[in-house]
Order: sequence, then C-alpha cells, then structure tokens
Amino acid sequence: MTFKELNIIPPILKALEQENYTAPTPIQEQAIPPVLEGRDLLGCAQTGTGKTAAFSVPILQLLSKGQSGKPGKRQIRSLILTPTRELAIQIQDNLKAYGRYTSLRSSVIFGGVSQKPQEVQLQQGVDILVATPGRLIDLMNQGFVDLRHLEIFVLDEADRMLDMGFIHDVKKIVAKIPSKKQTLLFSATMPPEIAQMVKTILVNPVKVEI
Ligand code: AMP
Repeated sequence: MTFKELNIIPPILKALEQENYTAPTPIQEQAIPPVLEGRDLLGCAQTGTGKTAAFSVPILQLLSKGQSGKPGKRQIRSLILTPTRELAIQIQDNLKAYGRYTSLRSSVIFGGVSQKPQEVQLQQGVDILVATPGRLIDLMNQGFVDLRHLEIFVLDEADRMLDMGFIHDVKKIVAKIPSKKQTLLFSATMPPEIAQMVKTILVNPVKVEI
C-alpha cells in the first residue's frame, strides 16, 4: 500500500516523501480512508504507531480541499486536544511538516508559558488548533478562541486525559463545540469513563485497533 493509493493529494504526498515516509503504517492505512470519507473514528493505538499522521494527514487534506478562495479571517476548523505540552508541540511540528505545501495554518497552545504570543497567533487566525485542555479553557473564557466553525475535532490520548485529571475540562470543551462535526477519538485503553464518552461524542464510528 502507498499513500498515493490512499488518495492523498499531491501537495501532501510531496511532503510525506520529504519526510521519507515510503508507506503508510497499519493505523494510517486503516484510519485515513474513513476519515477522508467524513466518518467518526475510534482509534485504539499508542504513540509510536504513526497515530499522529493517521489523523493529521486526512485533516490537512479535508481542510485544504474545502478551503474557499474567500478572503477574510481564518477560522478554527479543526481542534486537536492532547494531554501534554510535549505531545501538543510534536503534533504541531508534524502538521507543519505534512502541510508545508498547503496554505493551511496551524497553531499550538499550552499552559506553563506566557499567554500573550498565543493570543497574537489566535488573533491572526488559524485553521487547525492544537491545544492542551487547561490553556484552551482559559483562552476560550477570555474570548480568544471561537469554535463555532469547527468541522473536525480530535481527542488524542483520551485515557491519559482521564489519568491526568483533565476529563472534566475535556467535557467542558466538548460542550462548547458544534454538535454537527466529525470526531476522532484515540485511546490506548478503554476505561469505563472513556467508553461512556465514546458513546456520547462519536456517531457510528469506524473502529481501528492496532
Ligand atoms: P507517532 O505514533 O505519531 O508518534 O509516530 C511515531 C514516529 O513514526 C514518528 O517519528 C513519525 O515521524 C514516524 N512515522 C509516522 N508515520 C510514518 C510512516 N508512514 N513512515 C515512516 N515513519 C513514520
């Protein structure tokens, strides 16, 4: 199997070639087609499996295809929620690499650092926002984040969100995003609280297990 056979568009194929990704990993092979079709996805996979590209590549493709030529401020069309600053930075680095030949803009926000540069980035407009829950809620409460235009929501490492005590924050965020959207949820394990969340936020999901 190749990325071309997964119908990845040329600008993203070129970037993947530059990353020396010769073939999709099993999770990418299974997850990319249904995500491109607009399906919700439940991914049971750990870091190290190629999970990040499994959601980043189809998100970049869906958003760049749907990108209108209209001028005006970019709106947040995809939100990727992840538990740690390290993961958030890594996801953003990957989005930048895979999306380098698209005209999409991504940005990352996390706690423990000054908020000001993050405010400036948000005010300039982003298509894809990578965030940790606490800082996202702070910036939402201050009016810097508008999620009304959200099309694709990713909840990454859901079980770790629970372990780290972020599940309440995650629920608060989920309550504020539009109900008509595509949702991708990744979790290495399925404790009852996450199984319950899967039931409430995913609609007829495709299940991918690695
Ligand atoms: P992840 O599970 O997303 O953290 O990815 C683990 C590592 O695999 C990262 O260093 C990625 O750059 C790399 N990777 C992801 N997909 C591929 C691929 N299709 N071919 C080669 N390396 C990959």
